[in-house]
Amino acid sequence: MAIAKKVIPALPSVKEFCLSVPLYERFEYDDDKNNGFFAVEQFEGTLDMHCPECGQHSVFAVKKNSYATSSRYTNYIFSLFFRCSRDSQHQALFIFRAHRGTIQKIGQIPSLADLAMPDLKKYRAVLGDERYKELARAIGLATHGVGVGAFVYLRRIFESLIEEARVEASKQPDWDNDQYASARMVEKIVMLKGHLPDFLVENKALYGVLSVGVHTLSEADCLSAFPVVRLAIELILDGLLEQRERMEKLKSASKAIAALKAAAGKSDA
Ligand SMILES: [Zn+2]
Repeated sequence: MAIAKKVIPALPSVKEFCLSVPLYERFEYDDDKNNGFFAVEQFEGTLDMHCPECGQHSVFAVKKNSYATSSRYTNYIFSLFFRCSRDSQHQALFIFRAHRGTIQKIGQIPSLADLAMPDLKKYRAVLGDERYKELARAIGLATHGVGVGAFVYLRRIFESLIEEARVEASKQPDWDNDQYASARMVEKIVMLKGHLPDFLVENKALYGVLSVGVHTLSEADCLSAFPVVRLAIELILDGLLEQRERMEKLKSASKAIAALKAAAGKSDA
């Protein structure tokens, strides 16, 4: 009888691994070329990310991979070294460790928080100071592999944004608050369709983890749920920012129209 070979999920892409996967999160790998280990280790492309020294986004090209290793299975350390295309003195380094079939990112400079904060600043206006600080703290904690702590902050922000959507949805005449109150997070997301980004509704299954008690989740569970919850938060915030921008444009347009009308009225007189 043939023994079924264990299927190991593909590794994150280099972009995800470097720019959004927290430190120390473990991924299984095997020597199968499809698994993605070689794509990370032998990476020859570019990364588009914030350059703290340019103060803006830049394209980083990989310069060299270096190794300090005994074998591919125990303490195999390799790094990806990048240079900013604007100034070769601006550098980025990501260090990985492969050990007994799992690969982790064990170090990076600039930190995930330094890479993420410039992009997060724009959300301050819709999040408010308190929640913005919590988001920054969540990313800072995840950067250092503190999964549960990071996840708790992220979850609070997510739940408060969901609550804002509920307030909007409950203005509809057929809204059933009792049904909502007893629903699990995945069902709540469905009930809030039209008030949340389509992506969230379509991928609601990803958010089942938000109904699980934090005390039953391990550090690893929390770290692996982190990117998808963060993405949901950013999508909701992008929607709120867009709304806000539209309202401001409408306001200034109606002001301009009123001024034009007033001017026309004067010249008629
Ligand atoms: Zn730069």
